[in-house]
Amino acid sequence: MRGELTFLGTGTSMGVPTLGCRCAVCTSPDPHDRRLRPSLLVRWHEPGPGQDAGPERVVVIDTGPDFREQALRTGLGRVDAVFYTHSHADHILGLDDLRPLSYIVNRESGPIPLYASPESTEVLERIYSYTFSPDATYPMRAKVKLEPLEDRTAVHGVEFVRVPVLHGQLEISGFRFGRAAYLTDVSDIPESSFALLEGLDVVVLSALRHNPHPSHATVEQAVRWAERIGAGQTWLTHIAHGLGHEQTNQMLPKSIAMAYDGLTLPVVLA
Ligand SMILES: [Zn+2]
Ligand SMILES: [Zn+2]
Repeated sequence: MRGELTFLGTGTSMGVPTLGCRCAVCTSPDPHDRRLRPSLLVRWHEPGPGQDAGPERVVVIDTGPDFREQALRTGLGRVDAVFYTHSHADHILGLDDLRPLSYIVNRESGPIPLYASPESTEVLERIYSYTFSPDATYPMRAKVKLEPLEDRTAVHGVEFVRVPVLHGQLEISGFRFGRAAYLTDVSDIPESSFALLEGLDVVVLSALRHNPHPSHATVEQAVRWAERIGAGQTWLTHIAHGLGHEQTNQMLPKSIAMAYDGLTLPVVLA
C-alpha cells in the first residue's frame, strides 16, 4: 500500500524565525527558512472495492503549538489517530485544536485515539485535565482517548512500530511505518533500535544545529546515523535558526537533505 508523508513543521521548539532574532536565517527571504514546530502527517487510501480507492486515512505524529495553522495549510479534514513522540511543549500544545476534527471523526467511528507512552500520558492528563479527567464536564472538550503506545500499533491497515530513542536523559519514541521512519528530538539511538531501521526508503532524523546540544543531535551526528541506516533518502528536521536551508543543503552528502514545511514524499506503507 502506498501513501505519502508531509512535513507539517520542521523547526525546533522556538520555531524559525525565532522571536526577537535578526540573524541571516531569521530574516531570510527564502520560504524554506520559515519553520513551524515539528510534526509529520502520514496519509493513505485504504484499498476499496475493485480498482476504486477506499477512504482516506490520516495519522499525525505530534500536535505542536502550530497544529491549527498546519492543518489549515494542508487542508486537513480528518485525523484518524495521533502518535506522540514525547510530552515537550513543541510536540503537544496543539492537542486542543483537534477538537473540530474530533467531532467529525467521533460521529463516524468514535473518539480519535491518541497513542502515548506512560510519560506522555501523565503529562497530557495533567495539562488537559478538562479533557481527560473522569470528572470533566466541559461539553465541547475534544472527542479523543488516550491509548497506551505499544511496540506495534495498526491503524487502518498500516503498522506503526515504536522505535525507542534517547532525548537527553529521556527515552522517547520514534516511529517506523512501512519503508519510512520518523525520529525527532534524538540525541542518541540505542543499538537495539537500529535493527528496526533496516530496509528503509525514507528516514527522517532531527538535526538541530552544528554546535553540540545535550538533548539534540548535530547535523554531523545525524549524517553519521544516516550513513549507518543507509535509507534511500534521509531528510533532516527539528532545525534551529543556525542552519540556513540552501547553505546547509550544499554541504550535505547526496542522499541527505534538509526537509522543509510542506514537503510531501511518496512512501510505501505496507
Ligand atoms: Zn522538540
Ligand atoms: Zn535567528
